[in-house]
Amino acid sequence: LEEGARSCLLRFRHRLEQDIKPSYLMDHMISDGVLTVDEEERISNKPTRKDQAVALLELLLRKDNRGYISFYNALVKETYGDLANLLHDDLPQTLPVQTVLSEGGVPQRPVVFVSRPEFVNCVREKLYRLQKEPGWVTVFGMAGSGKSVLAAEAVRHHGLIEECFPGGIHWLSIGQLDKPDLMVKIQSLCFRLEQSLDSPSLHRPPNSLDEAKERLRYLTLRRYPRSLLILDDIWDSTVLKAFDIHCRILLTTRNRSLTDSVSGAKYEVEVESGLDEKKGLEILALYTNTKLHGLPEEARSIVKECKGSPLVVSLIGALLKEKPNRWRYYLNQLQQKQFKRIRKSSSYDYDALDQAMDASIEVLPDEHRELYKDLSVLEKDIKVPAKVLSVLWDLEPEHVEDILEEFVNKSLLFVDSNNKPHLYYLHDLQLDFLVEQNRTQLEVSLDQHYRDGPPTSGDEECLYWIRFLTHHMAKANLSQELYSLMFSLDWVSIKAQIMGPAHLINDYVEYGPILDKEVMRSQFQEFLSLNGHQLEQRPFPDVVQLALSQPHTSEVYRQALLQAQDRASTG
Ligand code: ADP
Repeated sequence: LEEGARSCLLRFRHRLEQDIKPSYLMDHMISDGVLTVDEEERISNKPTRKDQAVALLELLLRKDNRGYISFYNALVKETYGDLANLLHDDLPQTLPVQTVLSEGGVPQRPVVFVSRPEFVNCVREKLYRLQKEPGWVTVFGMAGSGKSVLAAEAVRHHGLIEECFPGGIHWLSIGQLDKPDLMVKIQSLCFRLEQSLDSPSLHRPPNSLDEAKERLRYLTLRRYPRSLLILDDIWDSTVLKAFDIHCRILLTTRNRSLTDSVSGAKYEVEVESGLDEKKGLEILALYTNTKLHGLPEEARSIVKECKGSPLVVSLIGALLKEKPNRWRYYLNQLQQKQFKRIRKSSSYDYDALDQAMDASIEVLPDEHRELYKDLSVLEKDIKVPAKVLSVLWDLEPEHVEDILEEFVNKSLLFVDSNNKPHLYYLHDLQLDFLVEQNRTQLEVSLDQHYRDGPPTSGDEECLYWIRFLTHHMAKANLSQELYSLMFSLDWVSIKAQIMGPAHLINDYVEYGPILDKEVMRSQFQEFLSLNGHQLEQRPFPDVVQLALSQPHTSEVYRQALLQAQDRASTG
C-alpha cells in the first residue's frame, strides 16, 4: 500500500471503525478479488460489528493499493459518501500494473479466482532471475491445472514489472498451430508492438517465418528492451525456436522438455494438478455465492472426486451457478465419468475436460498414442514400475523407459521418484478419461447408431454421434462401417441437415483417404459442393430430388433413384 493511502487509513481509522458495516463492504471487495472468502470468514466471525470493522482495517493496511481502491469503491456503493470523501484525496493515482498488463494483452483473473501463493511466488522468483539476463521460465503441468491463470497472476506485481520488465509484458496465446499460423501470430504481435510506439514504422508484413522472427528480434532488442514475452500453451519445440531471439520469455506448456532445443538460461516451475480441498471448496462457494460452511455435503465429494482439478471444479462451479440445486446430479455425473455433459461456455479453449485430455494425447506419435491408451488397464491409485509396462507392451525395458519419460514430460503420466525403481501412475481423471474413451470406441456400432435408421433427434447424444461418428469409426479402424456410412445418401442427408454441408465435405477430405475409393468419394464430394447452397436452405430441400440431377453414372444418383422408386411403389 503506498504511503499516502496508508497514512490516510491510519488518520481516519477510528472514524471508519465507528461507522462502517463490514459485511456489506466485504461483498464488494470479494467480487473485486482483493479479499478472499477465508479472510472474510475470519472477520465475520468476530463477535461485534465494531470488532469486525477493526479487523477489516487491520487487514486493509496489509493489502496493496488495489485493496484501498476497492474499499473506497465499496464505501461509495454503500452510500458512505462522507467516509469515501475522507479517503478520496489519497487514492493511489494510477494503476500502473493494470495498465501495463492490459496493454500487453495479459488476460484478467477468471471471475472466480483463488490464490495459490506457493506457485505464484515460485514463478515470480524465477522471473526475478531474468532481471539481468534473457532466458526462459517454463511453467508446466497437466491440462487444466491452472498454468495460464498462474502465469497471468505472477506478472500482476508492481515490483516485478518495475524491477525486471520495465519494457512491458506481452502475452501471446499459441496453442496448437502450424507454420503459417505461427507467422501470422508473430506478425500480429509485431504489429501490436509497433502500434504502441510513438512513431509507428510502416513495414510491409513479413513474407516468411524467418522474416517475422527477425522483425520480432529487432523490436524486442531495440524498442522494447527488458520486456517479458509470455507464450501461453506451447506444444511444439519448433514453435519455440521462432522465439529463440535472446529475449525474456515465460511459457506455459504440458511438455516439460520443450526448452531443450533453445539456448539461454532456463528455469522451470511444475504446477500441481490439483488444488487442496479448502481451495476447491472456496471456488465452489464463490460460484454459488455461498459461505464455505454453508456448502452442501456434496461439495466436498466433488472436489475429492476430481482431485481438486481447477478446471473441473470451475466447470462444475459455473454449472452450479446456473442450476444451484444440482449438486447431487453433477456429483453423480462426475462419479459416472459423464464428462461430455460437464461443459462450460467460458473462454476456455476446450469445451470439456475430455477434449482437453484428447488434445494432449493427439500430439503423441501414433505408436505411442496407442501405448498410452493401453494404460487404461491400470488400476486406480496403483503405481507400477516400468517392468510391468514392458510386459504389457511387450517392449524392451530401455525402450519402455524412454516412452515413459516422454509421457511424464508431457504431463500425461506421473512418476514417483522417491521409490527405487521409479513408479508410474496416471492422474485419476486421466485414467477415467482413457477408460471412458476406450469404452465409447468399443461401443460404437452401426447397429446402434445407424442401421436402425440414423440418429435424427436433436438431443445432445445424437448431435454428438452425427458429428463424431465418422471420427470414432476412423479411429477405431472400423473402415467397413465408415465406408457404408459415408457413402450413404441417407447419412449425407441427415448430417447435412443438422451440421451443414461443410462438415460433410470435411469428412470426405479427412477420412476419404482411409477408404481408398477415390471415384465414389469424388462423386459425393461433387454432389455436396454443387448443392452446398441449397443444402443450407431451410426448409431443408428434398435431397433425393437434388441427387437425381447428378450424372447417371454416379453412386449418388444410383441411391437416389432407388429411393425414388421405393417412394413410388409405397405411394
Ligand atoms: P491450463 O493453462 O493449465 O490448461 P488454465 O490456467 O487455463 O489451465 O485454467 C483452467 C481453468 O481452471 C480456468 O479457466 C479456470 O476456470 C480454472 N482455474 C485455474 N486456476 C484457477 C484459480 N487459481 N482460481 C480459480 N479458478 C482457476
